[in-house]
Amino acid sequence: MNQQITWDAAALTDTGLKRARNEDSHLFRPEKRLFAVADGMGGHQAGDVASRMAVDFVDAFFREAPAADADPQEVGRSLLDAAQHANQEILARGAAEPDKYGMGTTLTTLIALDGACVIGHIGDSRAYRLRNGALSQITTDHTWVQDQVALGALSRSEARRHPYANVLTRVLGMPDADGADVLLADVASGDLFLLCSDGLTSMIEHPDLEALVAQDKPLEQLAQQLVEAANVRGGHDNVTVILLRPVAA
Ligand code: CA
Repeated sequence: MNQQITWDAAALTDTGLKRARNEDSHLFRPEKRLFAVADGMGGHQAGDVASRMAVDFVDAFFREAPAADADPQEVGRSLLDAAQHANQEILARGAAEPDKYGMGTTLTTLIALDGACVIGHIGDSRAYRLRNGALSQITTDHTWVQDQVALGALSRSEARRHPYANVLTRVLGMPDADGADVLLADVASGDLFLLCSDGLTSMIEHPDLEALVAQDKPLEQLAQQLVEAANVRGGHDNVTVILLRPVAA
């Protein structure tokens, strides 16, 4: 799709059924074609602070939306910069405030351009694209179990149930993290993009998630159904979803 497009979008976050607080944060700026999900971690409410810092940082960093026809590579470099600076800010605050020491957060950011979505990613929140009924994961989880899957030591379903399933290898707030990944996904008519925290994907198996997302429904209603599906299966974690769909202008 290279003509000018507009985006239909919806977002929803929910504490789930087991956690007392929602430590996920999200950024929903359709007017800037800018979206992000962050899943914070750390005691004494520091997880909320870290995830909120990350999305607020991205919002401020992209005060002006990148032009819809901007070079995706250049936008990708800006996303890397944003993640690096957010990391420094979170580390500095964690060092200065003892109750926030060691706080961290995932960050998956998507900027929609006319020909492509540019995604910056660190941690285990995810970006997916649904095309012709098939849901593909664009991001790779920065988790210990994902490394084992890549090595062939664990299957995907073993990884989901593994006691170390939540052990992250890269997040913002980690001094020696290798930084974020940047991914480019082309956009075709009929595509649907999903950003989510692991509270969605840890509760819903891939085939069920694919079937849910493939329903032809308004995005607000789809977002609601995804959150409900996570809660019906136990709602063990906070869940955040952002859905977007290109609409030819
Ligand atoms: Ca989570």
